[in-house]
Amino acid sequence: MANILVTGGAGFIGSHTCVELIKAGHKIVVLDNFVNSDVESLTRVKTICVTDFPVEKGDVLDTGFVRSLLKKHKIESVIHFAGLKAVGESVEQPLAYYNNNVVGTYSLLSAMNDAGVHKIVFSSSATVYGDPQVLPLTESHPLSATNPYGRSKLIVEDMLRDLYKSDNQWQISILRYFNPCGAHQSGLIGEDPKGIPNNLVPFVAQVASGRREKLNIWGNDYDTPDGTGVRDYIHVVDLAEGHVKALESLSVGSGCVAVNLGTGKGYSVKEVATAFGNAAGTAIPYIIANRRPGDIASCYADCSFAKEYLNWSAKRNLVDMMTDHWRWQQNNPDGYSDCTN
Ligand code: NAD
Ligand code: UDP
Repeated sequence: MANILVTGGAGFIGSHTCVELIKAGHKIVVLDNFVNSDVESLTRVKTICVTDFPVEKGDVLDTGFVRSLLKKHKIESVIHFAGLKAVGESVEQPLAYYNNNVVGTYSLLSAMNDAGVHKIVFSSSATVYGDPQVLPLTESHPLSATNPYGRSKLIVEDMLRDLYKSDNQWQISILRYFNPCGAHQSGLIGEDPKGIPNNLVPFVAQVASGRREKLNIWGNDYDTPDGTGVRDYIHVVDLAEGHVKALESLSVGSGCVAVNLGTGKGYSVKEVATAFGNAAGTAIPYIIANRRPGDIASCYADCSFAKEYLNWSAKRNLVDMMTDHWRWQQNNPDGYSDCTN
């Protein structure tokens, strides 16, 4: 089996994808600078898979280092998760986001080009659709960005499309994730946000565990069935399986193809809070607060292309997502930092 470099493999989606790659028989090498993760996540991936793999501490911005890794480990393809992902922070620190996400990917692609590695799966986001004009979102929906984080994803997507046009030996899969949540069924790995979680599900999980007092629902006057924002939540293990399919599709032929990874179903903030409360056996206290600047009313995917192109569709439902997220939260109330004590 080919050797795969997983950048950002210690992070939330990366760690789950490492498990699925190993399960599918692939050989992996992880590159991470641990700016938003803990090496413990990889120790646990090794426990789940009962196997070992190389972990390289370093930065995708260090082109020479990445080039040396590609050669040293005889890498044939790359799954590129490494990046910063907080929308609000990207508004405050745009240069950090352009540097890490855009220059970092440029650095990685340059190293790959030098080393003759031309297969890459890239983590994009449904944020590249901007404020949806039509729902559900198909891959042909017009692209736009409303903040520096989204723009960094869009710039990288454009960079990848240009690269393929210039050199058809590239094999590129752009995966547009909707709203990942949940955790591995073992309860050993999951999302470990630093500070106050920005995203809904990790915030609700901390309310359920008593770490936070209540949920602030950012607006109940949207044009949605109950007035609160609607999103397409997808179980992180489904997402991870989608990466394995995308990687395997790269061997079929060259191209640069964007694919939605979602479930196609939208749930409101209130529905998510209720579902999480049911999983945790406790009601989630909430208040209605002002709308969060930049938020959109609804966003959910048309997933028919993923089915057709990757033969992939999400298998896990909202109850699975909430149950698995809650198991992770209960077992690791302070995330991975629990185990460093
Ligand atoms: P994460 O922060 O948990 O994982 C990212 C990993 O990349 C971390 O381990 C971090 O330490 C590492 N990293 C960051 N910059 C690096 C650099 N310069 N060099 C080496 N390592 C670096 O995030 P995640 O939720 O697992 O997201 C993974 C990818 O998916 C990101 O690119 C993110 O933008 C994208 N994405 C995430 C979501 C989401 O809601 N989680 C949605 C859409 C897209
Ligand atoms: N949300 C909320 N309170 C929170 C976090 C999120 O009401 O503390 C809402 C948010 O307004 C949106 C939905 O939950 O309607 C999903 O937000 P998240 O940040 O998880 O994803 P994104 O908005 O980036 O799709």
